[in-house]
Amino acid sequence: MFSKILIANRGEIACRVARAARALGVKTVAVYSDADVNALHVEACDEVVRLGPAPPRESYLDAARVLEAARSTGAEAIHPGYGFLSEQADFAQACAGAGVVFVGPPPEAMRALKDKAQARAVMRDAGVPVVPGSTGHVGDEAAARAAAASVGYPLLVKAAAGGGGIGMQVARDDAELVKALRSCGDRARASFGKDALYLERYLEKPRHVEVQLFGDGRLTLALGARECSIQRRHQKVLEEAPAVAFSGRPELLQKLLAAGVLAARAVGYANAGTAEFLLAGDEFFFIELNARLQVEHPVTEATTGLDLVQLQLRIAAGEKLQIGQGDIKVNGAAIECRINAEDPVKFFPSPGPVKVFDTPVPADGLFHDGVRIDAGVRAGTIVTPHYDSLLAKLIVHAETRAQAIALMAKALAGFRIEGVKTNLPLHQRILASEAFTRGELDTHFLERL
Ligand code: ADP
Repeated sequence: MFSKILIANRGEIACRVARAARALGVKTVAVYSDADVNALHVEACDEVVRLGPAPPRESYLDAARVLEAARSTGAEAIHPGYGFLSEQADFAQACAGAGVVFVGPPPEAMRALKDKAQARAVMRDAGVPVVPGSTGHVGDEAAARAAAASVGYPLLVKAAAGGGGIGMQVARDDAELVKALRSCGDRARASFGKDALYLERYLEKPRHVEVQLFGDGRLTLALGARECSIQRRHQKVLEEAPAVAFSGRPELLQKLLAAGVLAARAVGYANAGTAEFLLAGDEFFFIELNARLQVEHPVTEATTGLDLVQLQLRIAAGEKLQIGQGDIKVNGAAIECRINAEDPVKFFPSPGPVKVFDTPVPADGLFHDGVRIDAGVRAGTIVTPHYDSLLAKLIVHAETRAQAIALMAKALAGFRIEGVKTNLPLHQRILASEAFTRGELDTHFLERL
């Protein structure tokens, strides 16, 4: 095992990684921007290095500074968390070049997955069902119209470099297609610096299901499925394991898990990753493979009893998996609510000082009678507009889904945050809704609510 690692992230995930490192006896180095001098993740680590000013490009996204921080502190590995540098193959490669272990998949696998249109092609060739759509990027308007004619409307125009639900738009006819190409292209250029687009058939009411994968370069395990259909602006708000979508459909679940493993193998994947699919009726279609740990990993930890971050560090340090697929048992039901600093109705971010942060159980990332809180803030933290709005994750685990719902409703009622607006009331409404209790979910659930 490593003796010291650098955590190239902030917020709850940096605290989460620090906790796993401590459990393994590994020392930690935090990095921070000027906006995060007093942040919780800085306190959670043994050493700290300032990166630069608040804007991510000058701090958390500055690969050279992060690598220099690892060098100057003697950190042997870098855990990138999610977001920021986590899916940048060039950064992973630069780590290798500098003799620092990147905690994640090999750079070649990251490269194969980075362009979503290219990843679709690889998956289709490997026999993984993908959403019907264009072959590769659509070039000019004429090429897009031709592709649209063969795929059929409604379509979704998507940015090949997209992420975080940014750069996608529905088109129901040629006129809308032309508009969508323009606006998605602009969005993609502004957000990702690349304007390549592709088309997918727009599925009207799909469920979002995903497979947690874990590999050591030799073996690839499927650690069960999650359902993340409750979304706003194509971003997840509440996630569950096991996926409700498969209750009473064990054969379909097995097919999905197998497709997830196939997807990982197709690109030589190792370490933690997630294959995402849309489920429509009895058919599922691959949308992307995220080459990193996901925000919602705790629901899988709860149901499998595995610590995914510890496992990531072990595999990165060269250990092999000590378990096989037959050892993976999914127990009970887990739900995660993402507690964001945002307006609960309009979803606008709500920066400001967190004046009160009273949690129903200690926010230490451990389960207390089935309730766990992974937090990135405490009372006194100032939420800035520079970074994402996630304050904390509230996770529950119980024997049945009904019990998990009851436990979550109680935990939400005992959570008090003042100073910034939060989506706590939204979560309470979701939990109280009959459609949610019955498991009638799809990606438009929140709009109806
Ligand atoms: P991102 O990488 O930005 O997260 P994804 O491709 O993972 O984008 O899709 C995010 C969400 O957008 C999905 O969970 C789903 O709600 C919606 N979505 C994506 N592709 C489609 C599609 N072809 N049809 C309908 N909804 C889609």
